Amino acid sequence: MQDDIDHILIDRHNIAQRVETVASQIMSDLLADAKGEGESLEITLVPLLTGSFIFAADLIRHLPVKMKIRLLSVSSYPGTATSSRGAQIKDDLSYLPASLAGQHVLVIDDILDSGNTLKLVSKTLAAMNPASLRTCVLLRKQRPEAMVFPVDYVAFDIPDEFVVGYGLDFNDHYRNLPDIVTLREEVIAQAIANEKAAGTTES
Ligand code: 5GP
Ligand code: MG
Repeated sequence: MQDDIDHILIDRHNIAQRVETVASQIMSDLLADAKGEGESLEITLVPLLTGSFIFAADLIRHLPVKMKIRLLSVSSYPGTATSSRGAQIKDDLSYLPASLAGQHVLVIDDILDSGNTLKLVSKTLAAMNPASLRTCVLLRKQRPEAMVFPVDYVAFDIPDEFVVGYGLDFNDHYRNLPDIVTLREEVIAQAIANEKAAGTTES
């Protein structure tokens, strides 16, 4: 697995530092909300699976506040795809509560690329009438659609490259790498060739 890495883009120490900083920004916004409304502080987190599971796990341990966690499965990069094929919510939506009325909701995703995923999820959750709806991403790609997309918290802006590690996959692998890395081109080409040979590629 290590041999497949081209280079490390963001190492584990930088990630850990930024996660703490982003968590404190989230906390101070929440405290401001709670003051304004004179309510007891509580948050509903919606981490998007699978890519954000490690980020969310680290982030929540820096959010000392009462919270509910509602995982939501969204898919847009199936298999060996390295560009978005359009976002789709995989779960039966009845798994979510019918209403999010009065709840402060924070959506957590791994990476903002085309914005299709967050657009779909935000629209779906906004229809459930939350008290507030914010979005947080670990990574944002420096491409025009992503840079203009409204998102509340961004841990890192990265070049428009395909990355894996710290929860992000290629063909379901590499999520367990502790750093955010790029893969060697041959590795991606080989996986695509294998998939073609097996006749499983979507056209
Ligand atoms: P969007 O809907 O914004 O185009 O894409 C968001 C989703 O696409 C992310 O949640 C992630 O699953 C996937 N994605 C986008 N860029 C990358 C990337 O560079 N690497 C990986 N592994 N997944 C990506
Ligand atoms: Mg994802």
